[in-house]
Amino acid sequence: MRQGEFLNERHFALPRSAHRVVLTRSILEVFLTYRQQGSEPEAGGLLFAEFDFPLIRIVEASHPHATDQRWRTLFIPNRILQRRLIKKLFKHGRHFVGEWHTHPEANPTPSGLDLNSMVDAFLKSQHELNYFIMIIVGNGAKCPELWVSAHDGLNFHRLHELQGAGRLFDST
Ligand SMILES: [Zn+2]
Repeated sequence: MRQGEFLNERHFALPRSAHRVVLTRSILEVFLTYRQQGSEPEAGGLLFAEFDFPLIRIVEASHPHATDQRWRTLFIPNRILQRRLIKKLFKHGRHFVGEWHTHPEANPTPSGLDLNSMVDAFLKSQHELNYFIMIIVGNGAKCPELWVSAHDGLNFHRLHELQGAGRLFDST
């Protein structure tokens, strides 16, 4: 049995909004694959959601590409390929809602560069939500610690996790 089969989807609440961000099992499996537990470089990609309001279900996390630039504590994606992917998935009803990357630390927090790049991404991209989601994946041994935040052109808020919410929703 693969490790990912033990994963439950995880739910995060947005401040001052009824929206709830759902991280589905398939993207949690991608995060587990690229967690920086040894000497691997940072990995990252884009986040795509299906809207089922108030649920924002993040159903796809793109994998790093061979032409991305990856170091131990820095990740620079190939933005041209990313723009193509955004167009392609949009045709399949999958909306670009943010970005993810890994950090070589157990409890990940954004760097100044991460925060600036989210402002930049929010201002330069077209999006249907009025915020942009950033996920940073920690390198803890079990269920990885995640930083999940919502950004607009000015501010950001860390989302808090709703414990047990995945199980609750699975049974409905
Ligand atoms: Zn970072």
